[in-house]
Parts: sequence; C-alpha cells; structure tokens
Amino acid sequence: MNQSMIPQDQCPIQIEDDRTGMSVETLKRAFADNLFYLQGKYESLATQDDFYMALAYTLRDRLLSRWLKTLKTYLENDVKTVYYLSAEFLMGRHLGNSLINLHLYDRIRQAVEESGLDLEEILEHEPDPGLGNGGLGRLAACFLDSLATLEIPAVGYGIRYEFGIFHQIIQDGWQAEIPDKWLRLGNPWEIARPDQAVEVKFGGHTEIYSDEKGRPRKRWIPDTRVMGIPYDTPVPGYDTNTVNPLRLWKAESSDDFDFGEFNAGNYDGAVSEKMRSETISKVLYPNDNTPQGKQLRLEQQFFFVSCSLQDIVRVHLMRHKTLDNLPETAAIQLNDTHPAVAIAEMMRLLVDEHGFDWNIAWRITQKTFAYTNHTLLPEALERWSVGLFEAILPRHLEIIYEINHRFLEDVKHWYPEDSGLLSRLSLIEEGGEKKVRMANLACVGSHAINGVAALHTELLKQDTLKDFYKLWPEKFYNKTNGVTPRRWVLLSNPKLSELFTRKLGEGWLKDVDQLRKLESYVEDPEFRAEWRTIKQHNKQLMADYIAAHNGLEVDPHSLFDIQVKRIHEYKRQHLNVLNIITLYNRIKQNPDLNIQPRTFIFGGKAAPGYFMAKLIIKLVNSVAEVVNKDPDVRGRIKVVFLANFNASLGQRIYPCADLSEQVSTAGKEASGTGNMKFSMNGALTIGTLDGANIEIREEAGAENFFLFGLTAHEVAALKQQGYKPWEYYEQNAELKQTIDRIASGFFSHGDRNMFKPLVDSLMYNDPYMLFADYQDYIDCQDKVDRAYADQESWTKMSILNSIRMGKFSSDRTISEYCQQIWGVKPVKVELEEYNQALAGLNVTQPVSS
Ligand SMILES: *Cc1c(COP(=O)(O)O)cnc(C)c1O
Repeated sequence: MNQSMIPQDQCPIQIEDDRTGMSVETLKRAFADNLFYLQGKYESLATQDDFYMALAYTLRDRLLSRWLKTLKTYLENDVKTVYYLSAEFLMGRHLGNSLINLHLYDRIRQAVEESGLDLEEILEHEPDPGLGNGGLGRLAACFLDSLATLEIPAVGYGIRYEFGIFHQIIQDGWQAEIPDKWLRLGNPWEIARPDQAVEVKFGGHTEIYSDEKGRPRKRWIPDTRVMGIPYDTPVPGYDTNTVNPLRLWKAESSDDFDFGEFNAGNYDGAVSEKMRSETISKVLYPNDNTPQGKQLRLEQQFFFVSCSLQDIVRVHLMRHKTLDNLPETAAIQLNDTHPAVAIAEMMRLLVDEHGFDWNIAWRITQKTFAYTNHTLLPEALERWSVGLFEAILPRHLEIIYEINHRFLEDVKHWYPEDSGLLSRLSLIEEGGEKKVRMANLACVGSHAINGVAALHTELLKQDTLKDFYKLWPEKFYNKTNGVTPRRWVLLSNPKLSELFTRKLGEGWLKDVDQLRKLESYVEDPEFRAEWRTIKQHNKQLMADYIAAHNGLEVDPHSLFDIQVKRIHEYKRQHLNVLNIITLYNRIKQNPDLNIQPRTFIFGGKAAPGYFMAKLIIKLVNSVAEVVNKDPDVRGRIKVVFLANFNASLGQRIYPCADLSEQVSTAGKEASGTGNMKFSMNGALTIGTLDGANIEIREEAGAENFFLFGLTAHEVAALKQQGYKPWEYYEQNAELKQTIDRIASGFFSHGDRNMFKPLVDSLMYNDPYMLFADYQDYIDCQDKVDRAYADQESWTKMSILNSIRMGKFSSDRTISEYCQQIWGVKPVKVELEEYNQALAGLNVTQPVSS
C-alpha cells in the first residue's frame, strides 16, 4: 500500500501494514524484504553477511523517522548545538547497539529466530568500524552515545577513513598488520549527502588586495581544491527519540578527471590528480600518543576541520544574517590538538571570507571553541614544521603569526620582565627547525581547556600547560572521562544487566548511581553466589573463545588477570610480564608452590613503526610459549595474547575479568577508560595512582583496590635525583633472575639478541621506571593471590567495585561539559502520534484487529 495515501489518523491496522512497524511480524517481513530487494538474494542462497546487511537495513529504517524529526526539531528551534571535532571515532559495531537503544533486542531476536536464524551469529558478521586508535577515539564514541541519550543537540565531525585501524594478526609471536577493509560489504549505516559537499583548498600563496571600501585585505590563492562529501551515520540515544548525526567527510577530487590530459592520450595522467585528492581520507594513521609529522596527516586534519567549519557556518546562516552570534548557536569542542587548526580556519572564514574586523572575529572564535588535552607525554604534543605548514596552509600560517604577535604583545604587557615566559607561550617554537605548537594554538583560541581526570588536570596546571594556567586560571576545567553503560554493561554483559534490572528496574541505565542501592546485597550469600555464577559464565565464554582462536585450553576457574589496551612502554605491559616470569621462576624453584591458578590475558595493537612495542608483544608470546607447555607449571599459570583487540573484542573481555591491570607509570596515563569498563563489570583493579585509577579507588574504597607503585611526585623526584635502574637489578635477587632469564635467551630459543634492546633499555635507562616499581608490584600481586583464595570476600569486593562506578558513566561527564563549558540544554524530540505508534512506543504488543 502506498504509505502517503494513509491518512495519519487512521486505525492501527494500517499502521501495522507500514514497512517500519515494530511488531515481530512486521520486523520479519521487513527483514525478508530487505534480503530480497536490497541484497538481491533468495534466503536459500544468502550468506550470513547478507543476513547481517538485511537486518542492519531493517534497523536503519526504524531510526530514520526519529533521525529526520531530530534534525527538523533542531532547525526549527534554532538550538545551540555541540559540534564535537575528532580525528577519530571508534564506534564499535552499530547493530547490537541500535537494538539496545531502540528497545528492540528481544523482538528482533524473536523475528530472527522465527526466520530460522541465530541473532548472535548475525551480529558477529558486522565489520567493527575501527576509525580510531584507542582511548581517545572510543571516548568520542561514548560521548556521542551520551549526548543523544541526554537529548543534547550535537554533531560528531570526523573523517570517513576508507581503511580504519589495521587488523592485527600474530605470526610466530610477532605482530603483523593487515589492511582493514571495513567498507567491503558496503556500509548500511551511512547516508551520503553529495548535495552538501564542500570545497577545501590547499597550497598556493596569498596576496594583498583592496576591498570595495579601499581597505587592504588578504586573499588565499590555493593551488589545489578537494571536495569533501559528508556521510552521515545515525547515533541513537538510549530510550529517547533523539538521533544525532555523526558526519564523516570523504575526500574526492573536485574534477572527475583532466579532459585535456585524457584527450591528449595520457589516460593515467588524467586520473592521477583525482587519486591524490582521494588519498586524503584513505587511511587512519595507526599511532596512539605519538604524532607523525607527515604531510598527509596535516592535510587530513585541515581537510575535516575546513569541511566541518564550513558546514557549521552554513547551518548558522540558514537562520541568522550574521556570524556575530555564532557562540550562541555553536559550541565547538576540539578532541585533542588534531583539529586545532580550526582556530586559524575559523579566523580565516570570519576575516577573509565574511569581512570581520580581526578583534571581533577573535572574540567570536574564543567564545566558540573549547579544547580537551589528552596527554602528558611531551613527545605526544603535536608540532608542525613551519615549512610544511606554509606549503600546505600559507594563509593559516600568516593568521597564526598574527594571533601570536597580538598574544605575545599582551603577555609582554602583563609580564614585562619575563622573556622565558614569552618563548614558552609562543605559538612558534624557535631554536632549530621552527615549529607551530598546536596545543598553544588550541589554548589561546579557546575559552575552556580541560584535562580528562583530576590528576591529569592538576599536572596540566602545574607542568605541561602551567604558563597558560598562570595567564588564565579561570579557563581550566577538569572533566573526568566516562564510558557509556549501554554498550559497556548492557550490551557486553547481558547476564549482569539482567540481575541489575531484576533488582532495580531499568533506571540504572540512565543513572548508574542507582546501583549503589544494591550495597546491602553484599551481605547476601545468595546474591554473591549469583554474582559468581554470572562471572563464571562470562569466563567460560572467553575460555571457549581462546580455545577457538588460540587453540589453547585455559582453566575457566582460574583467576582471569587481564591487560588490554594499546601496547606502549608507558602502559608497562612488560611490567606485567616481569611478574609472570617471577612467578614462573618461583614455580621452577618450588614445583609445589601453593598459588591460585591464573590466566594472564593480553591484548592490544602496537603502532607498526614502534619497534619496542612490537618487541613487547613478541616477549608476551615467547613467555607464553615456554610457560604454557612447561610440565612443572601443571597448568597453574597460562599466558594468552588475544590478537586484534578492538571494541568488539573488548565487549567480550571486560565482563570476564577478575583482575584489571592498570599499571602505567604514575603521571603518564591521562585518564584511561578501560579501567572504568573493567570495574563496572566487577573486576578488581591492580593499579598505580595514575589517571582515573585514583578516582576509581576513591569511589570503590581503598580496601577494594590493589594499589602499588610510586606516585607521580615520587616519579618526578626520583628522576630529578638521578634514577639508576641497574642498582635495583643488582640489589634485588628475584628481579635479577627475571631479567637474566630474558637476556639469556631462555624465552627465545637461545637467541640472546632478540630481547636485548628491551633488556638494555630497562637496565640502563628505564624511562618508565619498571624497576623502581617492581618489588611493590610483585608484593601486591601476592596480595591479589591471597585475596582470591577467599572467594566470598573477593566477591564482596567485586560487587562493591561494580555498583560504586556511577561516576564513570559518560552521561555524568557530558552533563558537566554541557553545564560548565558548552552552555547547552536538552531539547525534546516529539514524534507525531502516527510515528510514535510506528515506533512502538505505545504499541507494546503486535496490534491485532
Ligand atoms: C576502552 C578502549 C580503549 C582504552 O583502553 P585504556 O585501557 O584506557 O587504554 C582502547 N581500545 C579499545 C578498543 C577500547 O574499547
């Protein structure tokens, strides 16, 4: 039946005829239709990929009325909108999350089962959209979920990388990388909007001219133009009608190809320019916390920033005659410095293209932008060589010089005597090759600067950004990170969620603090037994996964001790390995050693060019090879490296952990969010006083947290006084034995060279102070062993950890940003009655006549 012919107030029977109805029958028919009409397959010949695609379209169709109504509501009400600019969005799979957020999980399961299929198997066929490296990209994804759930008008802006983070495989214990062809099947979640394409300029030079009033002005004569095509993905809130867009830009050439070249017979030359343009959004740089000063990377940054700002300006000018009041309609958040060139691009748009006076443009810019810092590692702060910058963005370099000139004049005025201060605050690093300091640009151009955990913000104020703090203490905020409980508890840990909901109703999913009402159950032996049964179930699933993927049998009743995150020396996966080897040495000396059986699980990718990180992966696998087959160990310890850690694998891993390893050198991990996902799912943490660990310990209670290691201040003091790692080696017999085992070739088939770079780095430099923390860590692991022996007490600690994690819902983080930094309020999206009925909000049972 032609839908447009149905009067909107007619009886419900026609509603159920609609193709986007929510009854099991309608869902089944839509699924079958999509398989036939979109995938072009008979069911008998369809693959699991086809079933996935058909089901994904079934869900997308059900998001569309909410999505379009959301956009219409925003436009009509001229609301202030959050624009979250991020080079990375590590969204994870969409289908399961859409089922959760639309409350359709059970009905779709029934529809799929009645079609003779298995929902979990279909869900596994969605490629994991890995458009990010790790914590930073995943944070952006959790924030989008919370923004939509809190009904905040928001757009995520980023890059539609054709290849996301590489697929990791392990060959002979080493990491190897395989391209991530996530778009191979097509992407059912995105809608291309070529009608809203924008042009981005690169290169060339600038020139002075006089405008119609005779004023001297600058203009940019670029030598290259690239088109940005927006691709929109719906981001549904949980239990709301809000569906916000994630808008990712794809680069295309502005001309199809060069007809001159083509007609002259130069066929490949005719498309070479097109290919170069499209390279810009081709691949995600796989570096976490270590920028690569590559031209293409700067081009990517400017590309998505310019597209996004033009889009923001276009939307603003649909409702307003001027950009004067932009800060009233737009709050632009810079997720790290990757999009910081936006400060200069906004100035260029205002001054060069919209004729604003510099000072007014600067006020608009500062009021609109805010900047989140993500790192304390000095080597991770982005600095672009002035030469490279000038070649790609000549006008932006001029603007940055002008910003800098005016800024340093102010500083001179405020602090006349301090030339050191001037050179530290400058947007340009002098001495050697001149560089543009992107963090300084972001600080100067923003009204708010925030760190991502309490300690991190304090260290920014005292150290990394202390000079800016001295100028503008009022600009600094802390916004401790969070994670969405919808993906990281409800979707990942259905059994635990069922328990929570049975005791509390569904309110905890939007207010995780409600879980604290379960405190009294800690004393209930039945509740504890049920808690253990759930954890055991999750561990069994992981044991099955390990058997299938690693061909290794692990004891599902052993203590699951897990470290999953990017491989980085500051995260100290190798400290974890030193504990394993120490334990192994003890077993070799005393084969009857009485310890709790443990399964050590590792996962994480190393940047392909990060030699030491790759060597750490090889070390884990080499130790695993020896330990797992040594008959003296008698299976009491097992070591597993899970290949290709990503969001989907995370959803399996966080719920099965007994112990969460958060062992970074104090003062190095800005926040961490993996630590939060583990705790919410009932793992205890062994960790240093670093990042959000500190706040997790405060919430869980110090008695429910395994703390070890130097504090950030002690780390700094020890560095200051001259740290000599070899002295720890010489004075600690177990440490010496452990290092000697590695150096001797014991884990490398007699090859003494293989791990020499790692051993030498630890012995003679040890920049992350593993040796200083070694003994305390080992002792703390002994405590863990004893604590695990008392299962009742362990369970109590596990429960308390989980139910006291309300603070770490990203809903809390986002509410704070909204109130303190963005000045935005929720906007209710009302569905018309007709659509509401379609959406099943007042149709809980299939409608029957
Ligand atoms: C949460 C998450 C991270 C961040 O983990 P940390 O332990 O905080 O470094 C990285 N990668 C993925 C896939 C995640 O889900």
